[in-house]
Amino acid sequence: MTTTPHLTALAGLRDLCEVHLPGDEGYDAARTPWNLAVEQRPAAVAVPRTVAEVSSVVRAAADAGLRVAPQSTGHGAAALEERSLDDVVLLRLSGLTGVTVDPAARVARVVGGTLWQDVIAAVAPHGLTAPHGSAPDVAVAGYVLGGGLSFYGRRHGVAANAIRSVDVVVADGSLVTATAAQNADLFWAVRGGGGNLGVVVAIELELLPYADVFAGMLLWDRERAPEVVPAWVEWTRTAPESVSTSLRVMSFPPLPELPPFLSGRDLVIVDGACLAEDDQAAEVLAPLRSLAPELDTFGRIPAAELLAVHMDPPGPVPAVGDHSVLGPLDEAAVAAFLDQVGPGTRPGLMFAELRQLGGAIGLPTADGGAISHLPGDYALFCVAMAPTPQAAVAGKAAAFGVVRAMSRWSRTGLVPTFTESRVDASRFYDGDDWARLCRVRDAIDPRRVLVANHAL
Ligand SMILES: Cc1cc2nc3c(=O)[nH]c(=O)nc-3n(C[C@H](O)[C@H](O)[C@H](O)COP(=O)(O)OP(=O)(O)OC[C@H]3O[C@@H](n4cnc5c(N)ncnc54)[C@H](O)[C@@H]3O)c2cc1C
Repeated sequence: MTTTPHLTALAGLRDLCEVHLPGDEGYDAARTPWNLAVEQRPAAVAVPRTVAEVSSVVRAAADAGLRVAPQSTGHGAAALEERSLDDVVLLRLSGLTGVTVDPAARVARVVGGTLWQDVIAAVAPHGLTAPHGSAPDVAVAGYVLGGGLSFYGRRHGVAANAIRSVDVVVADGSLVTATAAQNADLFWAVRGGGGNLGVVVAIELELLPYADVFAGMLLWDRERAPEVVPAWVEWTRTAPESVSTSLRVMSFPPLPELPPFLSGRDLVIVDGACLAEDDQAAEVLAPLRSLAPELDTFGRIPAAELLAVHMDPPGPVPAVGDHSVLGPLDEAAVAAFLDQVGPGTRPGLMFAELRQLGGAIGLPTADGGAISHLPGDYALFCVAMAPTPQAAVAGKAAAFGVVRAMSRWSRTGLVPTFTESRVDASRFYDGDDWARLCRVRDAIDPRRVLVANHAL
């Protein structure tokens, strides 16, 4: 429980920026993350609109012995929920946003809690794009600071490698710029170290030179999974690094707002992007297209439309999930996956996804940060809708069941951005990098003021 001095300090935050305390009318709305299944009850929610406000809140909180959890959208809030937030000021960065583009330098400056959809909208008129993930309303910060897996990934690597510079409000409230040449240790650590090093108030990102991409989805009824899943796995073994795809076995409830090809159906969907000319891309995808999908939307589209290809939910939803990283999948692995989610099963999931890794995603880069690559062949990600606490318990068990069934093929490592529960964070990093990251954190935040969803 918060002590009386804390209560005084919390009340004092009201002088610094928009603040919601328990009992305030706006507290519940302000504390609610994008993932509506997560119940986070911080001691206060601060919504700064300037960097100066961020600094003053962090300084005041630290001086009062409180801690600070930066959160942009709450897409990744699930792991935070498992900690006590009684002495934590949730710093909601949704009020501190903006993008400026330098097309000649191919760099965008992205402020605080800006969403990917706003960045892509700003850079697209210049014929540029960026290594965004599958959802338009994920924030750049939480995604790139945790590595970031995009459909550009197998050609261009994890998104954290695109960071050129960061402005960070560190634990004493001061503003620090970190680049390869300035505060190089912090620059290394923050590129993979998530919210453990400070509140990131601006990121300079190197952009990608694509005005359009060859992208889309292939869709089959789930009855075809016994053909499609092994064919896709076989195809991924030799697919060039120009192509990054995901395979999902998905179940949609019957809902009038869904198109008929989705509503009430169990499906297999392969989607992604191929960074090649049309004829080469068609050649790459030919083995999958030969499986006669019911729907084939692959074709050349404006790069900005890649944000819609994965059909992620357009707004907040309650969801629970589980994840592991898999190595090569043999016949037995495919059979185990189909046993869990193939025809005739009732997995109780919205989807079970295999996201293709490899290519540049798996290659360490000399000038990269704490996460410059993610080893492994596939990221397994299982998600269930969780509109009630009971559904959350059942959904977690269902997601865990698939992850457990695939454990024979899993690796120790994890993808931070896909990790929904509290885990030993050393699993995200190579051994030496883990030790170095903890040293940098200890130097910059010895009192552990910062609270990340995945704590070091
Ligand atoms: C529908 C959906 C689709 C997704 N698709 C992908 C995908 O394709 N690829 C992929 O890699 N991931 C994907 N993710 C996962 C997503 O990238 C992570 O949940 C990511 O952490 C979200 O970042 P956020 O800032 O929006 O979320 P938040 O929950 O706000 O942030 C997560 C953590 O990042 C840190 N953080 C956030 N903002 C800041 C900041 N300004 N300063 C310091 N630390 C900060 C904090 O530690 C915070 O707890 C997806 C998630 C969902 C729900």
